Amino acid sequence: MSLTFRTDLFIGGQWRPASNGARFPVLDPANGEVIEQVADASPEDGQDALRAADAAQREWAATAPRVRAEILRRAFEIVTARADEFAETITREMGKPLAEARAEVKYGAEFLRWFSEEAPRISGRYSTAPDAGSRLLVLRRPVGPCLFITPWNFPLAMATRKIAPALAAGCTSILKPAAQTPLTALLFAEVLQQAGVPAGVVNVIPTQQAGAVTGPLIGSDKLRKLSFTGSTAVGKQLIKSAADQVLRVSMELGGNAPFIVFEDADLDAAVEGALVAKLRNGGEACVAANRILVHESVAERFSTALTERMGKNVAGHGLDTRTTIGPLIDKGTRDKVNDLVVEAVADGATVTVGGTVPDGEGWFYPPTVLVDVPSTSRILKEEIFGPVAPIITFSSEQEAVDLANATEYGLVCFAYTRDLDRTLRLAESLETGMLGINTGIVSNPAAPFGGVKQSGIGREGGFEGIDEYLETVYVGIAGPSAPK
Ligand code: NAP
Repeated sequence: MSLTFRTDLFIGGQWRPASNGARFPVLDPANGEVIEQVADASPEDGQDALRAADAAQREWAATAPRVRAEILRRAFEIVTARADEFAETITREMGKPLAEARAEVKYGAEFLRWFSEEAPRISGRYSTAPDAGSRLLVLRRPVGPCLFITPWNFPLAMATRKIAPALAAGCTSILKPAAQTPLTALLFAEVLQQAGVPAGVVNVIPTQQAGAVTGPLIGSDKLRKLSFTGSTAVGKQLIKSAADQVLRVSMELGGNAPFIVFEDADLDAAVEGALVAKLRNGGEACVAANRILVHESVAERFSTALTERMGKNVAGHGLDTRTTIGPLIDKGTRDKVNDLVVEAVADGATVTVGGTVPDGEGWFYPPTVLVDVPSTSRILKEEIFGPVAPIITFSSEQEAVDLANATEYGLVCFAYTRDLDRTLRLAESLETGMLGINTGIVSNPAAPFGGVKQSGIGREGGFEGIDEYLETVYVGIAGPSAPK
């Protein structure tokens, strides 16, 4: 399939070049080739996008929920009909294998369908005050223009997870996609236009100057909400900047997920689950299993089986259907992954498969298993963001919980056990926003996705997802007088 990319900025319903004419290249991480040059928004273009979002806000908020729902539903249908085009675009700019890109398109599209169904269900409440002196009316209103900043690892889904609930709630927005993956976002803008999203309601501004373009927007009193998905370090800076306007923020930040295999687990299922939790997106996922904690009685069997399965992967260009693992996004990411492995080995860990940077083009790193990793090793403390599975052992449930919680992150935990009591104890003691039991995948558009501790603030998806885009307004009404 040959792809035709929209490569300009999408502002106020118009496709237009950057005000200073600048463009920047988008690279294929499998071979370094330039896929396209896209418009590079300037701070002035950012201001134009905010003006457009602000101008469209009142009318969009007043648009009937049913109409908003039907536009979202049409967007779902168009993304689904153009799934191959989206998948190929994602694979080319981000590197993941085509089958995984297709899975992302399906997942990303589902947010459009889910929130099309939520738009007409926004509701409030009416109650009598406890002393019966007044009546309490509680309304929900759209928060107003939003700024969305998204990462490169799920170029479609991270955008739809924000744009769909915002549209459903009646909010306009500006999307600043990651500089490494702007093409999918531009293709999605085209879909929204086709689906009937009015001019200015969604604006898309790729840029290479993330801070210079978004900083003034975050400082503007026209913006009402910032939703960011990305690293904890950048999220912290953005929270600080948002403080000046007391801007509402949602933060989907980094993770350091423990994957716990108890002695009563179905071991074959646990190995399959670990593969998915570790290798989905080549390990470049905030929910990737970062630390594999295995009960000492089954550790050897588990690590032998995981080593064998990890070693069977086929690296290559994501468009080649034989490929099961694509490249990492860039050199810096691969160098960091390799440094973590080299350091862990120096600390005393043993590599059972992988562990060396291959020769040749592209930013490839092989699926790698490490055993006997000392608990002080840096690889257990930082987000690896690559296909490396460090295994450590434990001897009791309490030790597993303590190890799992020994991190500043709290996005997701995975556990394999057949014990229901233990499952409930884990749900109540693990410091996490999400817990997967006997599964290596928790993401679901119908579920609230998000973390605790330094993994973030707020939830995306589920019934909770739309709350991020609604203000609560309370109206106190004097109770009725007695009939005359
Ligand atoms: P990142 O470096 O934090 O970048 C994320 C986005 O923020 C990009 O669009 C980036 O633009 C932009 N950005 C960077 N510095 C900025 C600044 N000073 N002001 C405004 N925007 C700025 O993260 P990443 O490397 O792309 O993504 C990986 C991280 O995302 C990981 O930590 C991962 O765990 C996290 N993540 C979290 C979730 C979740 O739901 N919790 C989901 C996916 C990923 P540029 O592209 O121009 O740098």
